[in-house]
Amino acid sequence: MVDGGSGWPRKVIVVGAGIVGLSTAWFLQERGVEVEVVDRKGVAAGASWGNAGWISPGLAIPLNEPSVLRYGLRSLLSPSAPLHVPATLDPGLWSFLLRFAANCRWPSWTRAVRANLPLNEESIEAFDVLTYNGVRAPLVHAPITAAFRTPKQARALLHELRRISAAGQQVAHAPLRREQLVEHVPLASGALTAGVRIDGQRYVDPGAFVHALGRSVMSRGATVYAFEVTDVRSDGGKVTVSSSKGTTLTADAVVVATGAWLPKLAAQWGVRTQVRAGRGYSFTVPVDRPVPGPIYLPEVRVACTPYQGKLRVAGTMEFRSPDAPLVPARLEAIIASARPLLDGVRWEERTDVWVGPRPVTPDGRPLVGATGRPGVYVAGGHGMWGMAHGPATGRLLAEQITTGKQPAALREFDPLR
Ligand SMILES: Cc1cc2nc3c(=O)[nH]c(=O)nc-3n(C[C@H](O)[C@H](O)[C@H](O)COP(=O)(O)OP(=O)(O)OC[C@H]3O[C@@H](n4cnc5c(N)ncnc54)[C@H](O)[C@@H]3O)c2cc1C
Repeated sequence: MVDGGSGWPRKVIVVGAGIVGLSTAWFLQERGVEVEVVDRKGVAAGASWGNAGWISPGLAIPLNEPSVLRYGLRSLLSPSAPLHVPATLDPGLWSFLLRFAANCRWPSWTRAVRANLPLNEESIEAFDVLTYNGVRAPLVHAPITAAFRTPKQARALLHELRRISAAGQQVAHAPLRREQLVEHVPLASGALTAGVRIDGQRYVDPGAFVHALGRSVMSRGATVYAFEVTDVRSDGGKVTVSSSKGTTLTADAVVVATGAWLPKLAAQWGVRTQVRAGRGYSFTVPVDRPVPGPIYLPEVRVACTPYQGKLRVAGTMEFRSPDAPLVPARLEAIIASARPLLDGVRWEERTDVWVGPRPVTPDGRPLVGATGRPGVYVAGGHGMWGMAHGPATGRLLAEQITTGKQPAALREFDPLR
């Protein structure tokens, strides 16, 4: 039912129980909207489970940096490189990559940095709102320490941070000498000689956080249904979602937040910007020394996070179907690249081996807002930073859905661009 003449929806279905969908559900409930959630597999079944859990607005930078293109072209030839594009005849993937390449220019990157600024500015506050209001999961304060083989490599990150700050995003940071680096990264091997500390960041256990968010959404009245939505119809002021087996749900509006699976449903509503799965891998390893905070190894593009008394190691970007099986060689490549840089890690005792799809757009901007169909919204495409940006996104989209006005912060994310 639509609110007594105001035109705002009273009941909304959210498809996708990852960080983005559940955050949207939570902030809709905050505004008095009744919510139902549907996921094909349940809560945190996609990218929101095994990611690195960095809530790090200081580093949440769009992927389409020009250097990524040079790096990507080189790595096309190497199956063990951190960025991997399998040789395939998928024309959709190649058209996506061409578009991505066209956006790997400083003007597009700067536009994406500026567009993402409001999400970075609101990221931690939106997490605080959730944790102060019933989402029972720790949000840990810690700097992120980037570690390098040479001071020259550290200077390259410092240069990048200056460029980011010129684009409008201030990042508190400090260079570290070897002795200081070891204080922050007791696992640093002798190969690492310099570091950069990024201050004021947070991290979470992402699976635990998203499950806590799901419990909070349910305790406020929502039901989480488990089925795959195969069709969304909008007719006469109502939307209906249905499965191929005939299960249907009806409401005043729907938010499709299906991560890397977004194109399956969204293409039919005029959403032309592609979303592709940039798959990443992670696993958990025991360590011989406690790790005080997240570790970033930029040279090999690996992120490590304290996780349940051990270390979660995450890395790689592989453009393959979100449902394709895990490729063991990609995992071996992460281990081979990180092993010389960290001591005291028991790589052979790894558990929780996981692959998940980052929902990547070609222009470094997510898709958040109304589509060409009345009552049908999408929220997704946050790429490398959906965990950090999910709650802020949900808050802004809930505002748009309940007021009918697009917040200025969402203008650059228009799904119909
Ligand atoms: C290795 C790795 C490390 C990462 N590290 C970080 C990090 O440190 N910080 C950070 O901010 N981000 C990180 N990310 C990115 C982050 O994980 C994603 O951007 C984010 O989880 C996307 O959330 P989402 O809710 O959009 O999608 P998802 O979590 O993928 O959720 C989508 C949900 O939709 C469901 N679904 C799909 N299709 C249907 C359908 N038809 N019907 C019903 N349900 C459906 C799926 O089952 C899934 O549960 C990382 C990603 C990876 C892979």
